[in-house]
Amino acid sequence: MGEQGPGSGDERVKPAQKVPAKKASAKKTSAKKAAAVKKAPTRKATTAKAGPETATKAAAKKATKASAKTAPAAKAAVAKATAKKAAAKATAAKIMPAEPPRAESHTALVRRARRINRELAEVYPYAHPELDFENPFQLLIATVLSAQTTDLRVNQTTPGLFAKYPTPEDLAAANPEEVEEILRPTGFFRAKTKSVIGLSKGLVEQFGGEVPGRLEDLVELPGVGRKTAFVVLGNAFGRPGITVDTHFQRLVRRWKWTAETDPDKIEAAVGALFPKSDWTDLSHHVVWHGRRICHARKPACGACPIAPLCPAYGEGETDPEKAKKLLKYEKGGFPGQRLKPPQAYLDAGGRPAPPLGAA
Ligand code: SF4
Repeated sequence: MGEQGPGSGDERVKPAQKVPAKKASAKKTSAKKAAAVKKAPTRKATTAKAGPETATKAAAKKATKASAKTAPAAKAAVAKATAKKAAAKATAAKIMPAEPPRAESHTALVRRARRINRELAEVYPYAHPELDFENPFQLLIATVLSAQTTDLRVNQTTPGLFAKYPTPEDLAAANPEEVEEILRPTGFFRAKTKSVIGLSKGLVEQFGGEVPGRLEDLVELPGVGRKTAFVVLGNAFGRPGITVDTHFQRLVRRWKWTAETDPDKIEAAVGALFPKSDWTDLSHHVVWHGRRICHARKPACGACPIAPLCPAYGEGETDPEKAKKLLKYEKGGFPGQRLKPPQAYLDAGGRPAPPLGAA
């Protein structure tokens, strides 16, 4: 952070530095007055053309006259200086981020990627899965339900679902119409009902009603792909996994960690940049950043803590004030998505999301 590119707006007013050479020959008292005159560029030019003594006299005269006119002139000067300061600040902000790493070596990429992850870990020290769950079965079902909707909406819906169908056996034997009614708020509720009932039947028939803790078994279940499997493995079983969801895909491409578009290839490419033990937390950091700051349509670049490391800086809003207004969830002053967040989140000042129907 805080890195600046070349030409970071270090402006110097060179003409003002030439004048003191002439001023040195003038008397001390007059020099003070001449210095006052020096602030007005037109007067300075006139003075510079004349000899030192003429310059001193002229300066003294003009300084007296100028004092009468100083008020508006001073105001204008202050306004000009403020505008100049703001422009310099804006320029500095514009050039702050890194240039797209066209010929970045693998080692440099690994360093930058890990640094981004470290910075994000500081911004989101409590990053966690944003789906409420109490056991692997609940997390598996909640992950399937989270397609095409927010985790918040899922969290507001699953308490009713799990109260009525607490086990895979219960959900496998459920009346689809009743499940549809519960799942209606999550959208695509008929397809999701089919999925969760089919998945529960698979758990009962193939795994004795237990969620398996191995990737190869999880992906055997109906409707479970690698993304869902890694969410469950990483968060319910503590086995490292990279979750390549829509946020993850977008952000790693913006950061030029990989140019791959296929989720499995992205997973492999990004996995190669980090030790395995970092994978689960890395996934949380990236997804959290995508949800809160680096949005799909309007990333809040002006409020982004990793802007100096991001080749895509400027793809979104760069004005800090406007960017702040784009922040979502607790970064924008709203609670996170979990109704039952982990203690670390609450300890850091996070607030639980409201249940369904709450204002
Ligand atoms: S918000 Fe802007 S600067 Fe930050 S990661 Fe996204 S594109 Fe890069």
